[in-house]
Amino acid sequence: RAVHAARAAFESGPWPKMKPADRQRVLFKLGDLVLEHADELARLETLDNGKPIFESRQVDIPMVANCFHYFAGWATKLAGETLPVNPAYFNYPLREPLGVVAAIIPWNFPMIMVGWKAAPALAAGNCVIVKPAELTPLTAIRLGELALAAGVPPGVLNILPGKGSIAGEALVRHPGVDKVSFTGSTEIGRHIMKAGADTMKKLTLELGGKSPNIVFADADLDVAVKGVAAGIFYGKGEVCAAGSRLLVEASIADEFVAKLAERAQKLKPGDPLDPKTRLGALVSEKQMNTVLGYVETGTKEGAKLVAGGKRAPINGKGWFVEPTVLDQVDNAMRVAQEEIFGPVLSVIRFTDVDDAVKQANDSPFGLAAGVWTRDVKKAHAVARRLQAGTVWINMYNFYDAGMPFGGYKASGFGRDLGPECLRDYTQVKSVWVSIE
Ligand code: ADP
Repeated sequence: RAVHAARAAFESGPWPKMKPADRQRVLFKLGDLVLEHADELARLETLDNGKPIFESRQVDIPMVANCFHYFAGWATKLAGETLPVNPAYFNYPLREPLGVVAAIIPWNFPMIMVGWKAAPALAAGNCVIVKPAELTPLTAIRLGELALAAGVPPGVLNILPGKGSIAGEALVRHPGVDKVSFTGSTEIGRHIMKAGADTMKKLTLELGGKSPNIVFADADLDVAVKGVAAGIFYGKGEVCAAGSRLLVEASIADEFVAKLAERAQKLKPGDPLDPKTRLGALVSEKQMNTVLGYVETGTKEGAKLVAGGKRAPINGKGWFVEPTVLDQVDNAMRVAQEEIFGPVLSVIRFTDVDDAVKQANDSPFGLAAGVWTRDVKKAHAVARRLQAGTVWINMYNFYDAGMPFGGYKASGFGRDLGPECLRDYTQVKSVWVSIE
């Protein structure tokens, strides 16, 4: 029914034919409504996901509004150009929407991911079906209501909660869906590629990561310690781009790891609804057990636990895990190669620039990377050599609606955000006109 509603809205509703300036106004209004309801939405997000209200209120919800405000502006700017092929013809490309886009959303950023995908898809004139993760559907549902209030016509943005294996799978196989934009595990991403082949789905896949955060000896170490800690502990480490491998230059490694471990020990999990809390609860008991299982695997493989490693219940309850640092990790170990998706940092030493780049790239994933150095030349040279869709230099985990985000290698293809993603939500028709 959701696909039929979206198809009808696309084929005979007002949205794709609307004046771009009107579409822009509606999407901008939706951005405003998100900000007006920021407290309510942030609370829903925290209740659903367990992330601290500080993060939901200061980062997630403003980012969702940022997406709608930014992409609203694109509705009026998706221009083509005339192409000089032959004086006998007038040639121009028409950039058109794809039709119906299914956005399949993970539980770690339940509302941000809707903003990342729905805002550009709608700006380009598509109709959208959002399938939130089964654990975290609340903010997407509320956004659907706000979209109607903003003037998005019925059928244009459909929110379809349900299980991945049922609702998600049905969208991936449905002939009435033109494109699937998915963020989630590499395993399900591979499955979606195969399952979508019969109906020739266009795809954007943003998948897992095991991102290296590379600290050179010439970095401002105090700033780097803070950045590396935030890079893995922000969002409880349930972040695709989490800097989950620390690559640290051997000459400063002991000093750096000691500072990091001290910082990790000071960061205590707390009630996610308390505005002072900076580390929340993992999303589920299952996820907590996966994360704790990896800590055990790491120590069995020979890593040295220098901070955390345990469950940290509050009043005997909750899926809280201490910020954890595993030192003496070898890049071949499972805790260096597999995505843990929790507050667990694996520390690996390197000897020089070539060794750092080699170990950083020795991963199936290529989502993001960090480089910490005061040497400008080294920073840019290393950024070019890293196989990653995002490189942060002397910063980590920053995002903006205007900057493309996505993966190299097994971290996927296609891009969310930035002007780049609009290519992935449109198709080009070449029009030829005889004028002689
Ligand atoms: P995570 O590990 O982040 O939970 P998943 O890849 O399991 O990542 O889930 C991400 C999203 O994909 C969720 O919305 C989930 O319901 C959905 N999903 C899971 N299985 C399928 C499937 N077979 N087809 C389509 N979507 C699916």
